[in-house]
Amino acid sequence: MKHPLKEGSREANYILTLPVRYRKIMSQSLAGANQSKVAIKTKCLSCTNMNQTEITECRVSICPLWAYRPYQVKKGAKKAPIDVLKAAPTTEISV
Ligand code: SF4
Repeated sequence: MKHPLKEGSREANYILTLPVRYRKIMSQSLAGANQSKVAIKTKCLSCTNMNQTEITECRVSICPLWAYRPYQVKKGAKKAPIDVLKAAPTTEISV
């Protein structure tokens, strides 16, 4: 780490506003942990206001971090089955 986060500093106060589950990783990132993976993950989390689903579904393909963002659905992963009843047209087609 480059520097520890000082109590009462802007960074430390920001950490306290985050959900508990993200505080450690954001602290590591802001303290200069030399891990690009951590930096990318925390940037994406802050970009989406700590919403993993938004990261997974991020469509900003022109973002330099897009290809490296966490929580991507791996290729070959099964997609949720389409609900046939919901996918069916709601109006009848007359011939
Ligand atoms: S990849 Fe998407 S979620 Fe991550 S920083 Fe870029 S725009 Fe934000």
